[in-house]
Amino acid sequence: MEALVYKSTGSWYVVKTGDGNIYKARVKGRFKMEGITSTNPVAVGDMVNIEMEAGEENTAVIDLIVDRKNYIIRQSPHNKNQHHIIASNLDQSILFATVKNPKTSTGFIDRFLVASEAYHVNAILVFNKADDFNKNDHKKYETLSNIYNSIGYKVLLISVVNKTGLHELAALLHNKTSLMSGHSGVGKSSFVNYVLPASKIKTQDVSGWSGKGLHTTTFAEMFDLEEGGKIIDTPGLREFALSDIDQYELAHYFPEMRRLLPQCQFNNCVHINEPGCAVKQALDDGIISISRYNGYINILNTMADKYN
Ligand code: GDP
Ligand code: ZN
Repeated sequence: MEALVYKSTGSWYVVKTGDGNIYKARVKGRFKMEGITSTNPVAVGDMVNIEMEAGEENTAVIDLIVDRKNYIIRQSPHNKNQHHIIASNLDQSILFATVKNPKTSTGFIDRFLVASEAYHVNAILVFNKADDFNKNDHKKYETLSNIYNSIGYKVLLISVVNKTGLHELAALLHNKTSLMSGHSGVGKSSFVNYVLPASKIKTQDVSGWSGKGLHTTTFAEMFDLEEGGKIIDTPGLREFALSDIDQYELAHYFPEMRRLLPQCQFNNCVHINEPGCAVKQALDDGIISISRYNGYINILNTMADKYN
């Protein structure tokens, strides 16, 4: 039977079949995935094949993972060399951000966007807490929204408290599988609770083997939207791993730089102080924003640390 993985607790998974039945499933024995060193073989969003477990009610064994369209990875908090697939088969990733209380840094936004580009996931930026903006905050938002819009990213301003912009955001989620991310405090849970008050409670009920002995981190959980579509919430997830990207590749994940790369004089240009660099020229011409270029340099520096 084919089923979709809705929740992972590390060793057990909650899966749902096409006819809407929910099962608790696990992987038996060792499950080797080609080319991926992952501490968990199965991810939320995976389409899997399950076989019912003999003599057990509502528990199943996962024996196959259907090829993934894409997936995102994070580094294990315990071991930098271990990776963990958070979610797969995503249509888009939504970053919740705020200009204050707490302020989301452009560095964080840029790392998120680079990761989304690298994992081939369409990214959308959502700024929350518009109700709390003064004139200066609106200016800050306009500046950021212009920077990211001009690169081609969709940017939305919402207030969960005042319920502004929420229909527009809900429309973007319609019939898509969306990963929700953001630093804690930006109002991501408030939005998630707004879009699925009923179904969230339902999922918790049905998976109601009530977490006995499951005091591990919940890595991610998928929820059905009433209007069609799914969201994947990732409690406690701060950042995706950028570990597979090398320094020569990085500029490819900045769309405004990517288009210029063929014009750099050297094809191993990292766009710092090489002669004939089209990226530096575009920066001087004001075509690439200083904030984005700094974001690029900051990521490049963390990579250099890793290599040296
Ligand atoms: P999360 O950590 O991103 O899941 O954030 P929460 O949803 O827990 O919200 C963090 C804090 O921000 C809470 O005190 C919320 O009441 C508050 N908050 C959420 N949305 C808004 C909003 O639209 N405007 C304002 N002013 N506060 C908000
Ligand atoms: Zn260059």
